Amino acid sequence: MIRLDKIQKKYDLGDTEVAALHEVSFEITAGEFVAIMGPSGSGKSTLMNIIGILDNATGGTYYLEDYDITALPDKEQARIRNTHFGFIFQSFNLFPELSAMENVMLPMSYAGVAYNERKKRAAELLDQVGLSHRMSHLPTMLSGGEQQRVAIARALSNKPNLILADEPTGNLPTDKGQEVLDILTDLHKQGTTIVMVTHNDAQGEMAQRVINIRDGLLASEVRR
Ligand code: ADP
Ligand code: ADP
Repeated sequence: MIRLDKIQKKYDLGDTEVAALHEVSFEITAGEFVAIMGPSGSGKSTLMNIIGILDNATGGTYYLEDYDITALPDKEQARIRNTHFGFIFQSFNLFPELSAMENVMLPMSYAGVAYNERKKRAAELLDQVGLSHRMSHLPTMLSGGEQQRVAIARALSNKPNLILADEPTGNLPTDKGQEVLDILTDLHKQGTTIVMVTHNDAQGEMAQRVINIRDGLLASEVRR
């Protein structure tokens, strides 16, 4: 599904450069649950941003299905991003002026889904994450755990094959984090590919494969 071939990322800071990734190569097969681990600053977020086509590599080749992502124009990259990925972030990243329902509906409007269908599907997804009683709430009226469950419902709205989760429990107390992990585990059982950045060893053990990143390099890999 995903193949990274000697991916490099340098950030241009004007007078200097930061090399965040040096020739990272690996593959992810459809249906895998992969954890990406490593110290702060090792390049995990950079790697996730490249996989999710939120940012471009500065060297190497990224294949997603039959697409050479590195060779595609921005518009085509955006189309693939919107149709293939669901994103979950540590800080939830909900739109503060939109209700839970409207947050979940938004990606479907980019994908051209009709209003009634968007509304129906958003209600189903919020129900699936246990939030049918919170649909018209604004994010500020929700707890962190509830906000993250809205974010998961939003990530699922366009039926992505791949969920990218960057420290999804990082801002949650343990029990609320566990609810989020349970939802991800269920999604994986239903066939969704999951790539999750985590600092938590126990969470790494939930994954079938752990990719350890150190100083912008793939340092080691564990498969279960
Ligand atoms: P984490 O350690 O949880 O991955 P970071 O605090 O390293 O989070 O990064 C959060 C965001 O800030 C990332 O999306 C990254 O792109 C950006 N970022 C990290 N380091 C820098 C930097 N030195 N300059 C500008 N942006 C940065
Ligand atoms: P991690 O997610 O593992 O904490 P990052 O991918 O955020 O690591 O960062 C890797 C390296 O790249 C760090 O040295 C960080 O400061 C740098 N970096 C990340 N994002 C940016 C950015 N937007 N601009 C400049 N440097 C960045």
